[in-house]
Amino acid sequence: MNPSPTKTRRAAAALMFLYGVIVLSPLILLAILRPLTDHSFVYTIGKNLALLGFAMFAMQFVVSARFKWIERPFGLNLLFSFHKTMAIVASLLVLSHPLFLLLGGGELSLVLGPDVIWHIWLGRIAMVGLLFHVLLASFRLIIRLNYETWRFIHNVVALVFLPLAFLHSWKAGGDLELPAMRVLWVTLFATATAAYFWHRVARPMTLRRAPYTVTDVRKEADGVWTVALAPTAGVVRFDFLPGQFHFLTFRRAAHLPVEEHHWTISSSPTEAGVLRSTIKESGDFTATIGETKPGDTAVVYGPFGRFSYVLHSEEKDLVFIAGGIGITPLMGMLRHMRDTRAERTVTLFYGNTSEQDIAFHNELAEMERAGVASLKVVHILSKAADSWRGERGRLDKDIVAKFCGPLCADRAFYICAPPDVMDHTIPILRRGGVPPGRIHFERFSL
Ligand SMILES: Cc1cc2nc3c(=O)[nH]c(=O)nc-3n(C[C@H](O)[C@H](O)[C@H](O)COP(=O)(O)OP(=O)(O)OC[C@H]3O[C@@H](n4cnc5c(N)ncnc54)[C@H](O)[C@@H]3O)c2cc1C
Repeated sequence: MNPSPTKTRRAAAALMFLYGVIVLSPLILLAILRPLTDHSFVYTIGKNLALLGFAMFAMQFVVSARFKWIERPFGLNLLFSFHKTMAIVASLLVLSHPLFLLLGGGELSLVLGPDVIWHIWLGRIAMVGLLFHVLLASFRLIIRLNYETWRFIHNVVALVFLPLAFLHSWKAGGDLELPAMRVLWVTLFATATAAYFWHRVARPMTLRRAPYTVTDVRKEADGVWTVALAPTAGVVRFDFLPGQFHFLTFRRAAHLPVEEHHWTISSSPTEAGVLRSTIKESGDFTATIGETKPGDTAVVYGPFGRFSYVLHSEEKDLVFIAGGIGITPLMGMLRHMRDTRAERTVTLFYGNTSEQDIAFHNELAEMERAGVASLKVVHILSKAADSWRGERGRLDKDIVAKFCGPLCADRAFYICAPPDVMDHTIPILRRGGVPPGRIHFERFSL
């Protein structure tokens, strides 16, 4: 469950190497089997861009399929950033394909003319779909496209693009006349299809057969709820690291939406047979979370993530920084420290708008009193009542220095907060001399 850092690094390096070999395999194979070409240099580049782009797109299905053996060494956040970056690179490669063919002496009628054979039309449709998708992805937030609509379009385009690109290249690509290239092409296409089928059909069906049951729904603070889940009788709850997250799909009253969302597991793995998530009402789905009732069920898939102090056994002196609901992974870690009597010291900076927004207020105070991890909790409120005697405003270097002292740079930092707080805090720490390897953070958006 918790492999050594060396093993993790080796696994990450092996996966990156494998990825590189797979996406470059069409070009490697061509260099071996057909080193000489009749085409101009620029035309050949145009052809190769499409081959490379296709292999990268096929691998996108594998990267995004949430395979645990791929996720484990990197964490899902990093893997999804990689997925997004590779989507941009692959799109640029494929969109440049016709341009380079033209510049390299290809016929204009092939790219723009109306009288072309069907597989050229398939290539054009794939290209238009891809362009539409790239534009939509770039302007999604500006045009305020909601997440579910975006995800639906993303899935449809991905599903349609790959077969179209496959058929187009199969018929149009001269290089695909080589039997070894044909085998490679079918393998890439079949791998992508299998990953998609597993991710979207087979795995959800398997998980649905053993749903968890909601055993408790508790109000934690204003607009914040903790939902407790227990596995089906006879099923063992999966093991996880404190601070990790899971995907939940609740099945509740008929009028309530059924959507898959990711939430941190705010309970500790030491608490047998239960998973808790603490969820803030922050959008259309989470606005309904308080309507979840004991007896409702949920499909659970996890655990994911690498935001956990247990992965860094060398770090003893920790600073936790939480903004609002970002407290959840840190709470999971503190509970684990309490239950395992972990030898750590923790200073927690916990920012909220007002006192009513503070989740786990009493439990944190209790841990502080009990000396769990020599915990020191520093609450910071941005809109504090006059009676508030704690810190006010937002976290800045003066507050950190006041509570952490001059040895602050020697500590390890765990941050989970809204994006603006993270973007403000991480540079403060870097300027203060904290090395990047000792700043761990979790973003609540994939
Ligand atoms: C690793 C991780 C851990 C998280 N842990 C917690 C937690 O412990 N407690 C908590 O309250 N929140 C947590 N979140 C945030 C939570 O997932 C979002 O607040 C929630 O999905 C918003 O849903 P909504 O429809 O109510 O909000 P909306 O306003 O509809 O969506 C807000 C944003 O959330 C994202 N989002 C919405 N729906 C989905 C979806 N189905 N899948 C993926 N992203 C989506 C989109 O970026 C969207 O723009 C976590 C997020 C991540 C990535």
